[in-house]
Amino acid sequence: MTVQVVWFKRDLRVSDHWPLAEACRAGPVLPLYIIEPAYWQQPDSSVRQWAFIAESLRDLRRQLARLGLPLWVMEGDTLNILSQLHDQLGPFTLRSHQEYGGNWTYQRDRAVKRWCDAHDVTWQETAPFGVLRPCLDRDHWAEHWQDFMASSQATLPGHCEGALPAPPWPDLKTPRGMGRELCPGRQRGGSETGEAVWKSFLEQRARGYRGGISAPQKAEHSGSRISPYLAWGCLSLRQVVQQLWVAQQQAPAGPLANGLAAFESRLWWHCHFIQKLEDQVDMEHQSLHPALRNLRDDPGNPEWLRAWQQGQTGWPLVDAAMRYLHHHGWINFRMRAMLVSMACYPLWLHWQQPALHLARLFVDYEPGIHYPQIQMQAGVTGINALRMYNPTLQAQKLDPEGHFIRRWVPELRGVSSTWTHQPWNMGSRQQKESGVQIGEDYPSPLVDFDVAVRQARARLAEARHQAGFREQSRAVNQKHGSRRRRPRARNTDNDDQLSLF
Ligand SMILES: Cc1cc2nc3c(=O)[nH]c(=O)nc-3n(C[C@H](O)[C@H](O)[C@H](O)COP(=O)(O)OP(=O)(O)OC[C@H]3O[C@@H](n4cnc5c(N)ncnc54)[C@H](O)[C@@H]3O)c2cc1C
Repeated sequence: MTVQVVWFKRDLRVSDHWPLAEACRAGPVLPLYIIEPAYWQQPDSSVRQWAFIAESLRDLRRQLARLGLPLWVMEGDTLNILSQLHDQLGPFTLRSHQEYGGNWTYQRDRAVKRWCDAHDVTWQETAPFGVLRPCLDRDHWAEHWQDFMASSQATLPGHCEGALPAPPWPDLKTPRGMGRELCPGRQRGGSETGEAVWKSFLEQRARGYRGGISAPQKAEHSGSRISPYLAWGCLSLRQVVQQLWVAQQQAPAGPLANGLAAFESRLWWHCHFIQKLEDQVDMEHQSLHPALRNLRDDPGNPEWLRAWQQGQTGWPLVDAAMRYLHHHGWINFRMRAMLVSMACYPLWLHWQQPALHLARLFVDYEPGIHYPQIQMQAGVTGINALRMYNPTLQAQKLDPEGHFIRRWVPELRGVSSTWTHQPWNMGSRQQKESGVQIGEDYPSPLVDFDVAVRQARARLAEARHQAGFREQSRAVNQKHGSRRRRPRARNTDNDDQLSLF
């Protein structure tokens, strides 16, 4: 019988895995993961992402072993590996989930398709969640999402027939030429851990979701924290949504029900955003709105870029958020948005380098969410409300006592709550008493925020007044805009931003 090669990519689980379930029913199965050195040399990849995947692979091996299947992990160029398998097995059936990544994986998949056609290999691809390929009609997209999430989960037979024993794995510990991992607070990989994180949210932590996800120190516990498990496919989004629906029916009115209702819209956004990159893969490299493509020089001021990357901007909440992210590989939505806003408005950096820096820091890096979000926060889509976060007001609101700031910017440890949000306003006596000299031990803000923001506003207004801007915005909206508003969580967090238009 034809061997069924199941190619695992961003779907490191066995639960609700249609390619695996169908393979098990069709013939002897060879589960395969390929470590692609060229992928790990891309500027958006990082050792922390790899470490999460390596843990997920060990977990996947345990799960597959329970089904009687040995996981093959091979390292090399995908086409070479497929050719090796072809030499060994003859024509096989290749099964995988579709991958909605950036340009590198898109081009690799095109090459794989050509290889399959030339080698008499059938490649069966299945949608992993509610994204359409191709998406010809955004008008009915929301219905498609709903139908997908309500559709049947894949079920596996109790035992599957393995094709061949797996060869020894390459050393997963050795990062692929990427240096040492410096992310001690990272979430651990694997479906088993992901399911435990999800269960604790569904049953308990969702109580704090509404009103608890803007402040970074609260969001660490009140957010679901399932993002890396969705990004690398340790959890099935359909399973998450279906379990959420059941939990919503059972939850008594109150904080848990409210939290679950607010959370549901995020799972819809997940696919809504990924659909954008799937429909326009060049979003990774160029601004969506044609009139906003030359808005900023690339990269902008390199010293400001470096200071922003290292958490040395002189705005305490911005620096605390960046350093927290370095340590944990995760930070909440509000802080991600604020970091991009600070880079792209007062510092006027092009979004490209900040996007790559954040991508490398995020363990949950998902290109289809990342690039559309970056562009939205940088104000270059032409269809989204523009938001400029004021870092002092954000700090006063989200970290009133300054605990988060003092934890992550220890230079300010001795500074009282009165000054933690704007230490540059301390006089020399106060600086002495606090044990910090601004400009020496901790920087002054890189620019005068109010002046820089006024300049950003003027530049944006000028770009938006160009002839044809509105028509181009309409075209962008036609292709990418959301047609249906899902019930939204009551948003209590929209103040403290400078609205531009
Ligand atoms: C500039 C920027 C870049 C981002 N890059 C990524 C990324 O690379 N990977 C990523 O998973 N998320 C990204 N996000 C979205 C969001 O910040 C994270 O999904 C969220 O903070 C993850 O924490 P959580 O799982 O506790 O979120 P929850 O609030 O519990 O949400 C649950 C899930 O819904 C999805 N989700 C939540 N918020 C959004 C959103 N605004 N847009 C789309 N999907 C959402 C995610 O899959 C998330 O895991 C980005 C946001 C911004 C502003």
